[in-house]
Amino acid sequence: MNEQPDKQTILKRLERLAEEAENRAHEAFRSVERIAERNQWKVIEAFKRHKVSDFHFAGSTGYGYNDRGREVLDLVYADAMGAEAALVRPHFVSGTHTISCALFGVLRPGDELLYVTGRPYDTLHKVIGKPGDGRGSLQDWGVLYKEVPLAAGGGLDWEQIEQAITPRTKVIGIQRSRGYDWRASFTVAEIGEIVKKVKALKPDLLVFVDNCYGEFTEPLEPTQVGVDLMAGSLIKNPGGGLAETGGYIAGTAAAVEAAAFRLTAPGIGGEVGAMLGTMRAMFQGLFLAPHLVGQAVKGSVLAAALFEELGFETKPRWHEPRTDLIQAVRFGQAEHLIAFVQGIQQAAAVDAHVVPEPWDMPGYENEVIMAAGTFIQGGSLELSADAPIREPYIAYMQGGLTYAHAKYGILTALYRLVESGLIVTKPYIT
Ligand SMILES: *Cc1c(COP(=O)(O)O)cnc(C)c1O
Repeated sequence: MNEQPDKQTILKRLERLAEEAENRAHEAFRSVERIAERNQWKVIEAFKRHKVSDFHFAGSTGYGYNDRGREVLDLVYADAMGAEAALVRPHFVSGTHTISCALFGVLRPGDELLYVTGRPYDTLHKVIGKPGDGRGSLQDWGVLYKEVPLAAGGGLDWEQIEQAITPRTKVIGIQRSRGYDWRASFTVAEIGEIVKKVKALKPDLLVFVDNCYGEFTEPLEPTQVGVDLMAGSLIKNPGGGLAETGGYIAGTAAAVEAAAFRLTAPGIGGEVGAMLGTMRAMFQGLFLAPHLVGQAVKGSVLAAALFEELGFETKPRWHEPRTDLIQAVRFGQAEHLIAFVQGIQQAAAVDAHVVPEPWDMPGYENEVIMAAGTFIQGGSLELSADAPIREPYIAYMQGGLTYAHAKYGILTALYRLVESGLIVTKPYIT
């Protein structure tokens, strides 16, 4: 029992475990592949309808007036997302900036933003801010803010939500993905139900969805079930691993225009903005996104199946339906968590020699450790893992441009856990 088998033996056993997990997850993989196919067709049809041609890939300079490629990219995105309009730009510096433009675009002093899915993602806390914080946050500008924590079972707390909606409530905020929380993500069908219920309570509400990590994981997007405005990052799902920076907003024409006025300036909106050399990557990335998202989701399913087999708690479980890329694994101990994240880094094609350590990342409240051996800095459709160093030490892993890379990453991380003596007791490994 105490004798550690050699590296080759451990790796062989881990590979065998992975193959068994793949066999168990066969049906789950098939369903991910079907969704990827449907979304691939949907995206190609959007390209065809808007007659995408190679001259659209030549980026504009200066003001970027009459940039037909930019206009067509917006149309293709709107079409693929089933929205009236979209704004897809490299000028959004991150997902947080994109969401910030969407919210500032539609909210005015005295209006209230009500998040119904609990505390939003860490980086949004400073966008929402506090009254008088002097930073120009939403609350500093006089926008009112409330959030309703999720109910004990992880669902929405409708009693509290009904009480929280007042004549001032203007925007309902929904975060689709679990983010760094140990909770379920909200499926598109569930988001559709939320839209129906809140609009029955107050018909003039706008529903906003933070769609980060959700795009193309399901056959429909939130804007196809009545959501007025949504936003996401191009260095996550819809950039398809190729977009070098940027974000998108999709929704009603009025809401998207309001967000565009915020991104540039009132009266200018989306009609200017040089696209420089970013166009081809954004088009081609969108074309590739459904397939790559499918590869990443299969990687998440494999991770869940394997870690469950080894006795760790996972969310979602391997057989549960998925609505985002993120796979949470609960390690219980900081040591395990750090070894896992370092193992994911070790499997990267880029920067595998770098050993990630916990650090105080701007915008986050706890120390965070991140594995990001990526071609695009921070790109998280690429295999990556993040974890705030706080109890109960949950790692959030996502991405993988190819399933084989995700599998290699999971195996490398598992090997590191075995090698460090952190998991040795399971009969099939020792
Ligand atoms: C990533 C993410 C964001 C913020 O995006 P950044 O690009 O990191 O600024 C917001 N919400 C959710 C749910 C996310 O996953």
